[in-house]
Amino acid sequence: FAAVAMAATLAATTACSSSRDEDSSSGSSSNLIGIAMPTKSLERWNNDGAHLNDLLTKAGYTTTLQYADNKVDQQITQLQNMINQNPKVLVVASIDGTALSPVLEKAAQQKIKVIAYDRLINATPNVDYYATFDNYQVGKLQGEYIVKQLGLDAGKGPFNLEPFAGSSDDNNAKFFFSGAWDVLKPYVDSGKVVIPSGKKLASDADWKNVSIDGWSSQKAQSEMDNRINSFYTGGKKVDVVLSPNDSLALGIEQSLESKGYKVGTDWPVITGQDADLANTKNMLAGKQSMTVWKDTRTLGDQVAKMVDQIVKGSAVETNDTSSYNNGVKVVPSYLLAPVVVTKDDVKTKLVDSGFYTADKLGL
Ligand code: BGC
Repeated sequence: FAAVAMAATLAATTACSSSRDEDSSSGSSSNLIGIAMPTKSLERWNNDGAHLNDLLTKAGYTTTLQYADNKVDQQITQLQNMINQNPKVLVVASIDGTALSPVLEKAAQQKIKVIAYDRLINATPNVDYYATFDNYQVGKLQGEYIVKQLGLDAGKGPFNLEPFAGSSDDNNAKFFFSGAWDVLKPYVDSGKVVIPSGKKLASDADWKNVSIDGWSSQKAQSEMDNRINSFYTGGKKVDVVLSPNDSLALGIEQSLESKGYKVGTDWPVITGQDADLANTKNMLAGKQSMTVWKDTRTLGDQVAKMVDQIVKGSAVETNDTSSYNNGVKVVPSYLLAPVVVTKDDVKTKLVDSGFYTADKLGL
């Protein structure tokens, strides 16, 4: 036990000493776990990586945690380097879920188990488990929030909606959109919701017509600028924006602000996901209506448990064996439940749970 505790301490110390990518491996492959995260540019992935790394090092594992700057090639190189160190398990939050087949083939040859983290990895037999929040449910909660908030279920309307979807290479993005569109489409069909920008969304399969690549705030902002400039003339106003996550919502909110929309008068209903700090502050300021909160600590807890079960050779806990087909096989999954947070429950949900301190939110 002492040796394990010491290894954990050493690992934690090494991990902290590097500011960009953390590598606590000692060159030994005996209990090494590789963690590949997509980017440091979004707050959530920093939290995800740090939390999982912390749990695993505390449990006595050595880890190598790498961030790939949203660049697919970089992530592949990082995975290849990890595989060269012969880890027991790779935990991968992919950038492009279809681009990892060749590198994961190598992992399989070395009998390294692979857990897809948050995002499914497609087109390969060499992904063993998937742990995520229920992605369809995330979108459904956004759609249902819009229906209730606008009173669509009480027959109100018509309302002007601008829909957005996430990055076209992210397998999650289509689930988010379908969850929302299954709820909203009937109102579009009945004319109670109109899309002034004319984006074609005959079915949820058309989601790529409104996707924002790289989940970029900046691209979302300029897309919203363009839509407002071109289609909201003569006093026409945006009533509601379906934004799949907080990074897009942030750009859209900046656009609305620059176009003169004012909280309390004509600011639209706008959705999000992740409870990022800037967006939580915007919710408190009335600039974002809701966010779908995925407590990334619980995802990390679950994945750390699964890693340990794999390494110990015990049964790996999953709760869904039908939803996530990656094109080659159905990947046994563990789905966690996402939660809606609005301005009114920032304190009870985000602060009381310790996700944020009141101080950090200026409360
Ligand atoms: C995640 C979201 C996140 C988005 C952008 C998705 O795969 O599930 O939580 O907002 O990527 O990073």
